[in-house]
Amino acid sequence: MNRVGIGYDVHPLVEGRKLFLGGIELAHHKGLEGHSDADVLIHALADAILGALGAGDIGHHFPNTDERWRGVSSLIFLREIRALLEKRGAVLENIDASVIAEAPKIAPHLDKMKAKLGEALGLATDRINLKATTNEKLGFAGRGEGIAAMAVACVTLPD
Ligand code: MG
Repeated sequence: MNRVGIGYDVHPLVEGRKLFLGGIELAHHKGLEGHSDADVLIHALADAILGALGAGDIGHHFPNTDERWRGVSSLIFLREIRALLEKRGAVLENIDASVIAEAPKIAPHLDKMKAKLGEALGLATDRINLKATTNEKLGFAGRGEGIAAMAVACVTLPD
């Protein structure tokens, strides 16, 4: 049985934090604020995969009240979700995501992000599609106050 899931996340951009997106560090004068490394792209992907599994959301599995997840690389969440997929006998078919950011430029880094995400999920990079867009200077993303990401995932579950 094929299942799809959707994910969406936002984190504020603040001074004094490193910027992590798609499992890599990007050079920028601000970083995303959050309990973990605040990798908004990974969080949206995690929610999409958990959604396809019918397994709730990232806040349920990795609560921001848990000291274990403070400052960690969000790639850990994907590795945990990969284990959950295996436990359920589920196969992740593909993921697709969009990052909405006015700056920095994301597109030149997408291939490196794909490699990182694929490694964490055990997913071939030709099953990973990543996109980046600006918000045409509109709203919080357009003003550079934060970065948003949305994602979908398709999973095959055993009958
Ligand atoms: Mg988040």
